[in-house]
Amino acid sequence: MSGPNEPLLEVRDLAVQFFTYQGTVRALEGVSLSVARGEIMGLVGETGCGKSVLARSVLRLIADPPGKITAGAIRFKGRDLLTLSRREMRRIRGNEISMIFQEPMSSLNPVFTVGSQMLEVVALHQAVGREEGRRICVEMLRQVKMPDAEQVLAKYPHELSGGMRQRVMIAMELSCRPDLLLADEPTTALDVTVQAQVLAILEGLTRQRGVAVLFISHDLGVIAQLCDRVAVMYAGGIIETAPAGAIFAAPRHPYTRGLLHAIPRIAARQESLAVIPGSVPSLVDPPPGCRFHPRCAERFFPCDRVVPPFYEPAPGHRVACHLHAGEEGRRSWERS
Ligand code: SF4
Repeated sequence: MSGPNEPLLEVRDLAVQFFTYQGTVRALEGVSLSVARGEIMGLVGETGCGKSVLARSVLRLIADPPGKITAGAIRFKGRDLLTLSRREMRRIRGNEISMIFQEPMSSLNPVFTVGSQMLEVVALHQAVGREEGRRICVEMLRQVKMPDAEQVLAKYPHELSGGMRQRVMIAMELSCRPDLLLADEPTTALDVTVQAQVLAILEGLTRQRGVAVLFISHDLGVIAQLCDRVAVMYAGGIIETAPAGAIFAAPRHPYTRGLLHAIPRIAARQESLAVIPGSVPSLVDPPPGCRFHPRCAERFFPCDRVVPPFYEPAPGHRVACHLHAGEEGRRSWERS
């Protein structure tokens, strides 16, 4: 059991590799992250930076082969998930940790009605009869503000819009009363107005129930709206973590600053969008030192040879960048 001050989820020095014909993809390296009870933690970064691999690792859903968790620990409520048996993990998935994916069609079975799929989930986690199960499903659909909840139970997934399907998924996952919800780009496939509605529902329900959320997105606007803290990922590692307000008001890592400058601002009448030069490096043969150095306008002497450790320029604000090294850090480069 975890103590009262212990984080609900704590990932320590996690490494995940995929063994492919092109070589070994070092998808995650030295990733550490914590999520407290009731906290909404945002995980942001470009496509391919390792966000989804991290979420899937927490549920031990990395296909082996070709993938493998090669180092680290994932502690949930004080237990290391990497040491549990498959049976114990099956009990945790859905019961204590749930996951919502970007495209709900990939999670809903197209040949069964919404009602039969929801009932199956409810029956799996709660000892209730058919009538009571149906009542719970209708109640859950109402909580996600689904219009005509009773009629929706009789429909097939393809008869619902993307926003309605995502509400069904949120209802299903929260009906299991998880302590932790992993939300992997749950609103990316939706149009902007539906996205805002779904986000408001997700935030309302998780805050109300004290559910911790690891919210994955490449959209900084969504992250700003929803999250208490933010971790920024780049090329398989976390490079900056801070309270959401601090990341947006005073980003410390050159990559985070680049991401924020790349957001279009209509009010500022930007002539052209700022871009981060170059592209995301190959994770088969990542650059030495700081993985961002080939694209960084502020790189200097140690960046292409020394991996930056985390510095804490303000309380709770951690950044992996040599620009924030003190005297001690400078001396260590000279020794290396
Ligand atoms: Fe840029 Fe160097 Fe900081 Fe990396 S460590 S972000 S290359 S200044």
